[in-house]
Amino acid sequence: MTPNFTSASHFLIGIGLFWLGAVVGSFANVCVYRLPWGKSVIWPASHCPKCLTALKGRDNLPIFGWLLLRAECRKCGLQIASRYVLMELVMGLLFLSVHLAISADLGLRFPIDQVYGGRLLMGVMLVSFLVVATMMDYDWMIITDSVTVPGMLMGLGLGAMMPFARPLPMRSDSHLEGFWIGLAGVLAGFGLIVFFRVLGRILFRREAMGLGDATLMGVIGAFLGWKAAILTFFLAPFFGLSHAVWKLVRLILRRLQGGQNSLADHEMPFGPYLSMAALFILLSWPWLWKNWAVDLFESFSMVLKEMV
Ligand SMILES: [Zn+2]
Repeated sequence: MTPNFTSASHFLIGIGLFWLGAVVGSFANVCVYRLPWGKSVIWPASHCPKCLTALKGRDNLPIFGWLLLRAECRKCGLQIASRYVLMELVMGLLFLSVHLAISADLGLRFPIDQVYGGRLLMGVMLVSFLVVATMMDYDWMIITDSVTVPGMLMGLGLGAMMPFARPLPMRSDSHLEGFWIGLAGVLAGFGLIVFFRVLGRILFRREAMGLGDATLMGVIGAFLGWKAAILTFFLAPFFGLSHAVWKLVRLILRRLQGGQNSLADHEMPFGPYLSMAALFILLSWPWLWKNWAVDLFESFSMVLKEMV
């Protein structure tokens, strides 16, 4: 097999994954819109919220559907928000990034083997749950159990079935160990949020993090294992900080223009930052672990040993 054939195959897989991501993104829009109200995500078919006209088959096509409709309802002309198509694009790009990150780590190979396929499946699954949870938290300030419970079960199940699919050092050859690594991840994620929630209540007399964040961390831990879950938790505030600075700049600009503050300026959901940190770790883990995290955990365990 020539290298050209291999890279061409990877190029095609990348295009396929981008398209699959866009389809999942389209479904994710429906989930974010309906799940907080306990509505079914399968029935009824997508329709215009104003005139209730159902979308035609080709309108449901990711990205192209929106372009074909020129961003408005065919019957009543209601604008279709660009965030729907953005979600499809972002999900497509994220699926593609997972593929690129794995092939950069493992090298191009074709046909794709178990490890590559397993990692790809776990990666795109985690990405899907993270994006839905993030958008839901952003829109409604909640992350429903109808997202996080299936997410945790999926992470635990896939981790037990394909223990080789998690990146180092969470990789294993035994199904049982794969399951335990995921379970330890769920517990670590839950434990960290609950600990800081109690701490926040004692120190600041307010809830710093919701239980939705705890279950979201559970999903991240189930997929990535406990070491990556711990890193995610401590990395998330940095993503929050950069967003907070951006918000502050916007707030000052609006004040200068004589505008009023809105509630949205004060509320800061934590879920999106957890998701961003988890995505960052998922995509950069092979480099992050080798160059940085391995030392961190070594010194951490040395400190623990000194204490005990
Ligand atoms: Zn309409």
